[in-house]
Amino acid sequence: MGLHSGAPVRLRIVPAAAGTGIVFRRVDLDNFDVEAVGRNVARVSYATSLQKQGVLISTTEHLLSACIGMGLDNAIMELDNLEVPILDGSARPFIDLILQAGLKQQRKKRTYLRILREVEVREGNKFIAAYPAEGYSVSYKIQFAQPIGAQSFEIDLSRDLYDKELASARTFGFLREEQVMRNMGLIRGATEENVIVVTDTGIKNGTLRFPDEFVRHKVLDLIGDLALLGGQIIGKIVADRAGHAMHTALVSRLLKDRTLWEETTDAGLGHAEAEELESVQLSAKPV
Ligand SMILES: [Zn+2]
Repeated sequence: MGLHSGAPVRLRIVPAAAGTGIVFRRVDLDNFDVEAVGRNVARVSYATSLQKQGVLISTTEHLLSACIGMGLDNAIMELDNLEVPILDGSARPFIDLILQAGLKQQRKKRTYLRILREVEVREGNKFIAAYPAEGYSVSYKIQFAQPIGAQSFEIDLSRDLYDKELASARTFGFLREEQVMRNMGLIRGATEENVIVVTDTGIKNGTLRFPDEFVRHKVLDLIGDLALLGGQIIGKIVADRAGHAMHTALVSRLLKDRTLWEETTDAGLGHAEAEELESVQLSAKPV
């Protein structure tokens, strides 16, 4: 089921040739393809959506984050509705299925996007930036009302660390904002099984998976949004109180200015070459 649409949806991950990238395919609309790239970014508010010729793919961030985290470069994401399933609100179910199916190394070398010059985007007290660095690292700070408060998290990404430290972090929302969001036509598919429900005093549904699960989820989201650059990044990303709009603003800034980055097949750190998923089937449980 989709988090915002509440629509039942089935997702199937299909292997793709080297160089394909991640492509969403609407099997309910004559197999219309929407590539997971910056030029297809559409509405961005509480989730990131892609749009091409009027065809929408909503809430792409957790699935794309799983792809980057696991090093899955090429795949077709078949959907029979407009929104990626929310499952448990994290990237964990996607990871488990990708791991179950297995990844296959392809002949073609992976192309990385290496940050060459710093780029900073500021909006009020929100901030996001990319800096040249070795590897891919993310540093994120959030500041919410209590009981979340201030949290920060920093990670040098690797497949293992993504799997252990980020993949299970779930999306969250404040109970007191629920009605306003529902009135906006959002979170129609939200349940206590797919969102951490935050009250004024604590968590309404169960226990947290990490004490700082909220900021970890923001890092997961950021990685998924930056996947719209079209592949793996070599650089350091710093974010403070950012969100999907700021994440995708950074993507636009980078895509607009070709002097800020270069494409390279040399990761500099002995990374594995491009990998491909062999086959996996994933279906979202209609709730
Ligand atoms: Zn999220």
